[in-house]
Amino acid sequence: MGPGSDTALRHVERALADSERRLSAVVDLAPLVLFACDAAGTITLLRGAGLQALRVDAGTLIGTNVFALLDDSGRHDVSTLLERALQGEETHGVMRFGDTVFEGSFRPQRASSGAIAGVIAVYHDVTLAHRSQEQVRHMAYHDPLTGLPNRARLEERLAEGLARGRRTGRALALLYIDLDEFKLVNDSLGHAAGDELLCEVAQRLDATTRACDLLARHGGDEFMLLVEDLEPDDEHAVEAVAANVLAALAPPFTVDGAEFQVGASIGVSVWPRHGREPAELLQHADAALYQAKAQGRGVHAIYDPRTGSSRGRLTLTARLRRALEQDEFELHYQPIYGLAGGEQLAMEALVRWRDPERGLVLPGDFIGVAEGSGLIDDLGTWVLEEACRQMRAWIDAGLEPYVSVNVAPRQLRDAWFARRVAHTLDRFGLEPNRLMIEVTESAAMLEPQRTDPLLREVGELGVRLGIDDFGTGHSSLARLQALPFEALKIDRSFLRGVPEGRNETRMLSAVLALAGALGMSVVAEGIETDAQRAFLAGAGCQYGQGFLLGRPVPAGEIAATMRR
Ligand code: C2E
Ligand code: MG
Ligand code: MG
Repeated sequence: MGPGSDTALRHVERALADSERRLSAVVDLAPLVLFACDAAGTITLLRGAGLQALRVDAGTLIGTNVFALLDDSGRHDVSTLLERALQGEETHGVMRFGDTVFEGSFRPQRASSGAIAGVIAVYHDVTLAHRSQEQVRHMAYHDPLTGLPNRARLEERLAEGLARGRRTGRALALLYIDLDEFKLVNDSLGHAAGDELLCEVAQRLDATTRACDLLARHGGDEFMLLVEDLEPDDEHAVEAVAANVLAALAPPFTVDGAEFQVGASIGVSVWPRHGREPAELLQHADAALYQAKAQGRGVHAIYDPRTGSSRGRLTLTARLRRALEQDEFELHYQPIYGLAGGEQLAMEALVRWRDPERGLVLPGDFIGVAEGSGLIDDLGTWVLEEACRQMRAWIDAGLEPYVSVNVAPRQLRDAWFARRVAHTLDRFGLEPNRLMIEVTESAAMLEPQRTDPLLREVGELGVRLGIDDFGTGHSSLARLQALPFEALKIDRSFLRGVPEGRNETRMLSAVLALAGALGMSVVAEGIETDAQRAFLAGAGCQYGQGFLLGRPVPAGEIAATMRR
């Protein structure tokens, strides 16, 4: 061979070396672990960027025995896969090393004789995919606000708990916890404060929960506590848990700088006494909650099959929906009087639920739930229509009604609200000024970009606007003046210390002066005593409403006072 072919050979060698270096670089960059061993388990290849996560020095491991290595590090899971591969089976697996997750397979290699010569393996790093899968799983099973397990997780755990109970013969209790005054905070301080309160409640509840029990957020202001491993007939243990929960929520909460008392009601059902299946236990805990609420607030009730069977099937939301369908709501009317002349000028329509089981239920017990569940949209529409229908009937009977209707914050998020109002007035042939829409101060001040145009639209119809429960929220004076509010209703909490309390009377006078400066008329709510009425009249408050002047009564009764 001449010098020419020598050069050619060197060329080929260099090209091969280059190619191998490139391949090597690629292999060492790939998030893989490449492995090979012979039939005895001697490592012949160990490469790939995935090795960094294993914290091994591949160079020193070549030629050592892989089984010894795995035994030393206690990875019997991996040796098993490898052994099976050495017996001729292709094995797949997921391996965790610390936070890193690998997925791949061991593949047997055969010599030309057919005998197994060794095993090769390719594992890739799937940590990221795993992490996002876990995130998705976490999201599917947790409430984003409080971080607590959600309803789906609760139902799963309940099923697991029942299976455990069947094996061990131990009982299990489900506590359905519902906050009593949540709506008040949400309405007066806004949703951000409401969220903050829910998180604090979740923390307090969590602190009372044993590690083996499950606390979940069931939605809105409802929580569920699953308590396992109870003595089957030990009612006291269940009572103690419920009492603990109520005690944990008793001290006031501080939200947005203000202190709140947030009590709770609890309904309890016990497995196996109150049902054998998860759905049944959930229904019965809900029925018990209803029983607890009927006894007053801050109470727990254990499911009682004698009273629960007939109505235990429906949640409060479902019962309200049915109530709407079956026409169980009615409006009562409370008169509003001129304080100087003593004449009845208008009235406020207040909704009530004629529950066939409980009798007359006041809005404080269901408006919050109706708002939370969205039912308020339909209920609010019903209230408006019913008030307008009633006004038409009164006008036809020769009376001169002016009626205020309360509108919930959620209704103000409906871009069609003003058009609905206009349509309803039209349908009953009513002049718009017969209707006043009352919006609570906190609702009016929420979300100005959305609320302001809507309120202006209502004002342009000629419908009057009143700001309700004034003094319980935070108002922007600039917006109060810019919006077409005609009347301001002072919340009845302001009347509590009047006329004896110096601070209260001073506050009241200040509000009256403010309303005067803004050109708004004032209605004082909750006048219960003559002294209060006299003080208000003397302080220049034009209108008043309260038990002293007239309680809310059915339409038939108020008509009589209108005539007088
Ligand atoms: P509100 O609009 O401030 O209504 C006045 C509430 O104060 C009524 O309670 C009324 O019965 C009560 N009240 C009036 N005078 C006195 C008094 O002298 N002393 C005392 N202690 N209370 C007095 P009610 O009917 O239980 O309604 C409570 C709240 O429920 C209402 O407060 C209003 O915010 C809401 N609400 C009532 N009806 C509706 C409705 O149709 N839709 C909406 N969204 N909310 C309603
Ligand atoms: Mg009102
Ligand atoms: Mg009010």
